[in-house]
Amino acid sequence: MNTDADAVHIEASEWFAEHWDPARSVREWWRLLADSGWAFPTWPTEYGGRGLDKAGGRAAVLARKEAGAFGPPNGVATFLVAPTVMHYGSEEQQARHLPGIVDGTTPWCQLFSEPGAGSDIAGLATRAVRDGDEWIVNGQKVWSSGAQHAKRGILIARTDPDQPKHRGITFFLIDMEQPGVEVRPLREMTGAAAFNEVFFTEARVHESDRLGELGEGWRVAMTTLSHERDPDNAGLGDTPPFATVDLDEPVGKHAATIFDTVDGFSLAMMGQAGPLFDRAVNEHADTSDPVFRQELMKLVTERRTSRLSAQRAAAAVKAGGQPGPEVSTLKLKGAALNRQMRDVGLGALGPAAMLDHDDAPIDGLFHRYALFTPAASIAGGSDEVQHNIIGERILGLPREPGEAEQRELPWKDLPRS
Ligand SMILES: Cc1cc2nc3c(=O)[nH]c(=O)nc-3n(C[C@H](O)[C@H](O)[C@H](O)COP(=O)(O)OP(=O)(O)OC[C@H]3O[C@@H](n4cnc5c(N)ncnc54)[C@H](O)[C@@H]3O)c2cc1C
Repeated sequence: MNTDADAVHIEASEWFAEHWDPARSVREWWRLLADSGWAFPTWPTEYGGRGLDKAGGRAAVLARKEAGAFGPPNGVATFLVAPTVMHYGSEEQQARHLPGIVDGTTPWCQLFSEPGAGSDIAGLATRAVRDGDEWIVNGQKVWSSGAQHAKRGILIARTDPDQPKHRGITFFLIDMEQPGVEVRPLREMTGAAAFNEVFFTEARVHESDRLGELGEGWRVAMTTLSHERDPDNAGLGDTPPFATVDLDEPVGKHAATIFDTVDGFSLAMMGQAGPLFDRAVNEHADTSDPVFRQELMKLVTERRTSRLSAQRAAAAVKAGGQPGPEVSTLKLKGAALNRQMRDVGLGALGPAAMLDHDDAPIDGLFHRYALFTPAASIAGGSDEVQHNIIGERILGLPREPGEAEQRELPWKDLPRS
């Protein structure tokens, strides 16, 4: 829907002026946002949004920020699960799962990567075997962000080992709060433990929680991943993503202490890279240093061209409905920009860049973000994998040697280490 951004801004400002109350609980606030459609204003109305276009969405977010109001839920549920369920879910599945995502009461995790299947995710070995109306799941996932807080997970599992690897996979919406699911947090080099190993031992998922057709899990997962690589994803917000928000506390407390407990991963997902970098430069840089100025100008140019390519990709998405392989270019660019911002930002801090965490300038927030930046080249598919996607799916270059034959072999006959 084409919207008049000014009219949206006026309407949203009135709504926030009337309803924002820091004394409400987070639960109550998120419920109000969900019921009013202001939580995710660009989502279709039938899924809890207002069906606004991007300009309208930006106007609504601006109105919320001007009111000083806490944002909607953020995380795997909103930016990965929601668009996938909107695209592939039956009406019944959408009615059952989307409300808990929009109002933040159901945190989700993504259960794709395995110890033996990361870049080659189609080689995954976690099995799901049919048992009446249910599937029994056995296997292991890894790097599952936020799984220790998740009530549900999007799971891809092998349902037919006799099929070639891309064809025997099915996509499920699994209950994480059951005896057959064990979650073990992993500590990262940032010091935080945002992601986990997840072990499935005779875990169960009902047939009604299969998303998409049997054996079509690869296609469904590719949709999820294209949303993950899309920096313009409408489900990405500015509140802490990993259930560090207590639903029963006053929302004003969270609005005031929003950065206190979050790690670099969360800061990146809260869209804080740019603002933190700007603070590092504006508050600390010696801009009389010609070498620093040169690096800064290079980065400014990169940020501008990156915004232009993002606009072009957004137009392509609009034309085609779902993000396609073009988002790989944005993901690559985003990862490179993150590294550049880390280096120039640490340069701006000068010798204070060597301080550790909370002792460092900007309450150590820039340091938290800086430590996380290498992950941008890995999460959601590594840089090398994005290069392969661009080469093969956009430029039409030949696939990797031997891959065509492997794609036709039954999964059970593939060599495995
Ligand atoms: C912060 C973070 C959060 C994450 N969250 C989740 C999550 O919530 N859920 C989830 O399922 N996963 C998650 N992941 C996992 C992520 O998707 C994988 O780490 C990623 O896909 C790479 O897989 P891998 O780690 O197994 O590396 P590997 O696939 O083993 O790759 C190792 C190296 O080999 C290179 N390589 C591999 N294959 C090729 C090839 N064909 N051509 C060229 N180079 C190649 C890779 O680029 C990489 O440099 C997360 C990762 C990070 C860093």
